[in-house]
Amino acid sequence: MIVDLHNHTTLCNHAEGSMEQYIEKAIKMGTEVFGFADHAPMNFDKKYRMNFEDMLQYETKVNEAKIKYQNKIKILLGYEVDYIDGYIDSRVLEAKVDYLIGSVHFIEGWGFDNPEFIGKWKEQDIDEVWQKYFDSIENMANANIFDIVGHFDLIKVFKYMPKGDISYMAKSALEAIKESGMVLELNVAGYRKEVKEAYPSRNLLENAYKIGIPITFASDAHKPDQVGLFNDEIVKLAKSIGYNEVSYFIKRERKTIKF
Ligand SMILES: [Zn+2]
Ligand SMILES: [Zn+2]
Repeated sequence: MIVDLHNHTTLCNHAEGSMEQYIEKAIKMGTEVFGFADHAPMNFDKKYRMNFEDMLQYETKVNEAKIKYQNKIKILLGYEVDYIDGYIDSRVLEAKVDYLIGSVHFIEGWGFDNPEFIGKWKEQDIDEVWQKYFDSIENMANANIFDIVGHFDLIKVFKYMPKGDISYMAKSALEAIKESGMVLELNVAGYRKEVKEAYPSRNLLENAYKIGIPITFASDAHKPDQVGLFNDEIVKLAKSIGYNEVSYFIKRERKTIKF
């Protein structure tokens, strides 16, 4: 993966391997720009994210790696931040990072992508859940506080598919993303899940391309051996739609590389 901006560390309590192992794997996979974007601290569901006290250690270690590996690979510092109204913390928003990824993992407090709570899907109106999810992404884009939209259609993770037209459900969210200037992530984690395809799906990516939304690439690795996998699949997908450049951020400023 030429650019790979979404990778985790052990600080979030559900990833494994050292930062060096992730970086070494990225170098091996031919990555030019590699970013850590671990789950930012938040006073909500604290089990699956780093603590506020870990921020300094995390930022220091990534910044040290930037220098240590500067002749081999460009390392970037980011956070993946849950978009949950009322919980987004200024310490994260104001952190001296290269970029922030905004993600929706919760609908009205329900961690819909967590296998622990998969049972709740059976009690839901699936179409309603999907619409609530994309409404939340739309609100996130309108808030205009993040640089990248994480896994745009994560709601499909367990393959509970709606009856309604997904393009229609996601339309205002994509328009809000375009308006905000955010970048859409082409994230391969979906290949490791029941749904067995990238986030977002081809259809949604085509809709994004039509209105001029830029993309970036993401392993969303929680283990070093997940770094750079499925690169060929997403490059082929992106190219077949018409994309030929991939974005990354340095100090919150967007840059691009052709692929
Ligand atoms: Zn995670
Ligand atoms: Zn995520």
